[in-house]
Amino acid sequence: MITLNRETLTRRVSRFKVIIAFIFSFAIIFDMKLDLKYFREKLEAERVKIENELKTVGRVNPSNPNDWQAVPTDAEADSADRIEVAESIENFEENTAILKELEIQLNDVKMALKKIEDGTYGLCEGDGKPIPMKRLEANPAAKTCLEHAKSVKFEIN
Ligand SMILES: [Zn+2]
Repeated sequence: MITLNRETLTRRVSRFKVIIAFIFSFAIIFDMKLDLKYFREKLEAERVKIENELKTVGRVNPSNPNDWQAVPTDAEADSADRIEVAESIENFEENTAILKELEIQLNDVKMALKKIEDGTYGLCEGDGKPIPMKRLEANPAAKTCLEHAKSVKFEIN
């Protein structure tokens, strides 16, 4: 017969509860640390991706390593063909536009990485509250929650 003494049973249950509480609190702390590591890796991968894209349309400014300059993709300088020259100019303008967009993205990613170091990552710049995980998952470099993203956009436009 497996009849446990009532006192022993109560003691065992309470010990069990303490163990569960410990596991839960460790899980929470561990989870938070894991998330930062996870987002840092995501952001680092994003940075490499953007920098590789930047290399296809531009090059780093020799006098400022944080600045990118557009270059025409088709760099056949010896071609005297007028159409090709025109295409090259058009191409250069296109690259300039792409480069500007990529530079903004790169700066956002760098800012987010800096925030991880500073311990402010994942907080909305509008109200300082945590940005929903879903949004960070979709855009690890997000600066605000959705609500404040709208107001920031309106301010810019
Ligand atoms: Zn917000």
